[in-house]
Amino acid sequence: MTSLYQPSRDELAALLANDQRGEPSYRLDQVWQGLYTQLATPAEITNVPKALRLRLEATLPLALTQVVRRVSDGGDTVKYLWQLADGSRIETVLMLYPDRVTVCVSSQVGCAMACGFCATGQAGFTRHLTVGEIVEQVVIAAREARAMDRRLANVVFMGMGEPMANEAAVWQSVERIHDALGLSARHITISTVGLVPGIRRLTERSLPVNLAVSLHAANDELRDRLVPINKRYPIDDLMQACSDYLHAKGRRLSFEWALIAGVNDRASDAAELAKLCRRFHLPAHVNLIPLNPTPGYPTVGSSPKRVDEFRDLLVSLGVNATVRRNRGTDIDAACGQLAAGQPVTLGTRRAAPD
Ligand code: SAH
Repeated sequence: MTSLYQPSRDELAALLANDQRGEPSYRLDQVWQGLYTQLATPAEITNVPKALRLRLEATLPLALTQVVRRVSDGGDTVKYLWQLADGSRIETVLMLYPDRVTVCVSSQVGCAMACGFCATGQAGFTRHLTVGEIVEQVVIAAREARAMDRRLANVVFMGMGEPMANEAAVWQSVERIHDALGLSARHITISTVGLVPGIRRLTERSLPVNLAVSLHAANDELRDRLVPINKRYPIDDLMQACSDYLHAKGRRLSFEWALIAGVNDRASDAAELAKLCRRFHLPAHVNLIPLNPTPGYPTVGSSPKRVDEFRDLLVSLGVNATVRRNRGTDIDAACGQLAAGQPVTLGTRRAAPD
């Protein structure tokens, strides 16, 4: 199923050529710039003839229909729930920081990785997203930022799904975001549960995007339980792939660590992580976040005090670590809480941890 942001520039050129009716070749530039520079809808690309605008609308429909748009209490986080053409639902989160605007995009409907603490993992896998569905999330976020006199500068593939299980579409989206929307590769981050073949493919790709790896545990016994795919790609293989990526790209590598009380927030966990980073000579940056509550996981996130202690422990062991601010908890838009299958009613608000 195609959609407005699906075709590459060449594919759009072919579409316009097929559908010529005497269109001059500069129409391609006008349409491309309309879509990606002006962030216009076809109807708003008024420098092309109306007949062409109508044909674009008819051949390349929008992929996302807004079901819900929720703004957090402080107004700095916006969560969208979208319905796709086949009835599937996905979510996108826009985060407005004082110094930057970031969008967190989904790459799949559901997820097959089955991490027990993640709401998307609990929901299971439905299908991959298309390039058009991924890019449209970014374009809409860019438009929304512009309406607030801000500029969208960062894209993180940390929404629903495992981006490296849908690498081809994710990579085409990265290229579109970079080439057409003009975001720098430094400001694009792909987060993976640790699919080694995906990291290897990324290493071969041309643009040096940031890599985030959802580590959560530094020994195989615990990681097998938290992140089941670890049984297929154990920590040593994963670290080797990360190290190769880092050397090939010179890009920032980060580890995500959702702190679960009594599970992976012990002094021994910090020590193991420090040892792992040393063993692989990985100057990784660790992002700490207390586990957010999800319906299907009974264990709670670490207390703010424990989160700070864990960070201090890591720092004292020579590991660069920061505590990530928890955003959007009040609108179920925080990390791991995206679960489009959940009924969306205002009564389902959960309290933020602590
Ligand atoms: N599948 C990719 C990207 C999506 S999840 C990945 O695993 O990296 C984005 C981040 O949120 C990951 O680090 C994931 O482990 C984390 N996460 C999942 N559930 C969470 C929860 N309940 N609380 C905090 N972080 C969570």
